[in-house]
Amino acid sequence: GSALAVSDPDLAKLIQEEQDRQNNNIELIASENFASRAVREAQGSVLTNKYAEGYPGKRWYGGCEVVDQVEQLAIDRAKVLFGGDHVNVQPHSGSQANMAVYFSVLKPGDTILTMDLSHGGHLTHGHFANFSGKLYNVVHYGVSQETETIDYDALEKMAMEVKPQMITAGASAYSRTIDFERMGKIAKACGAYLFVDMAHIAGLVAAGVHPSPIPHADFVSTTTHKSLRGPRGGMVFCKEEFAKKLDATVFPGTQGGPLMHVIAAKAACFGEALKPSFKEYQTQVVRNSAAMAKKLADLGFRIVSGGSDNHVFMVDLRNKGINGAEAQVALDKVGITVNKNSIPFDTGSPMKPSGIRIGTPAVTTRGMKEEDVEQVAEFISRTLAIFVAQQIHSDPSAYDALREEVTAFNRAFPMP
Ligand code: PLP
Repeated sequence: GSALAVSDPDLAKLIQEEQDRQNNNIELIASENFASRAVREAQGSVLTNKYAEGYPGKRWYGGCEVVDQVEQLAIDRAKVLFGGDHVNVQPHSGSQANMAVYFSVLKPGDTILTMDLSHGGHLTHGHFANFSGKLYNVVHYGVSQETETIDYDALEKMAMEVKPQMITAGASAYSRTIDFERMGKIAKACGAYLFVDMAHIAGLVAAGVHPSPIPHADFVSTTTHKSLRGPRGGMVFCKEEFAKKLDATVFPGTQGGPLMHVIAAKAACFGEALKPSFKEYQTQVVRNSAAMAKKLADLGFRIVSGGSDNHVFMVDLRNKGINGAEAQVALDKVGITVNKNSIPFDTGSPMKPSGIRIGTPAVTTRGMKEEDVEQVAEFISRTLAIFVAQQIHSDPSAYDALREEVTAFNRAFPMP
């Protein structure tokens, strides 16, 4: 039975409602996934009770003999999965992982060359509202207007002019393979560190369906909860020469006690990712993304950069007479969850951007294949057509029949 249902029925009811919401809706947020029961069991374990400041074998507290082995297991599995000289599995989140990287080798005022948020970068890549934008001199690169992909020649030219201390690669909204080898060469040529934030594509990299940044970068950070399908958290790989600095920057530099229950869940996640079924899963994620982008294009939608090589793509809605914010609300009404997203060179505002972002990691975990995500693309098209028709004839029940159809369809794909 549920202890929480007895001790705190109000909270238990809310958690049940969220479980029902996750179960009933089609989850297309590119940064979300469904962690396995095993991962959730590790994360909900008694390891939450333990303080373990420091690292395996070098702790400030007694009683760490078991959690030492847990953290070592996470470290060993992460290295088998991704390679790399050194890894720190303690960052509480992707943002804290990135903070640890910057603080390891940069001083305030140093120059970082990073991808523009509106072209797909992340807040921690130098946005003015984020610590990274406040502490460093930020210069942005982006995608070319013509191809909507990274223009490496332009980036190289910029890097040689700007001479940044660090180049940051990786993105939250970029649908094409990133050429980390080329970026490594550019960083070397201009004397910069290369930092790759592979948060979005970590699962693909682990499975070998996206080239790995590890051989080309000085630092590689990731979250563990997106395509990698683990607990909410972060991790950083680095070259051996930065290992001591990185560890000292995570603890005591920017964090206190590590979340040992989350580190246990990271170990569980890496264990799952080392199984052959994980490669099959990631291969299907990529196939689904390409198939769904193609189906939407066939239905008259413009896909940013023309398609998807990975787990995500952006849809430019301008030719459909609807913005990304409106599309997000309309899709919520039928039980399809997406997020509004700026597209490169957007003519809309951040609150009313022109696009939506669609990702396939979560629906693929629930077992969807190409024909299923093509069906979801049709649901999306029909939903947005209802929204456009609603602007002429308002009918409060307009979405009801489609919502029922979506719910019935989704029932065939149970949550883990
Ligand atoms: N880096 C990238 C590329 C991301 O997309 C995100 C999450 O959205 C993060 C870092 C930050 O991760 P977190 O939300 O765990 O701080």
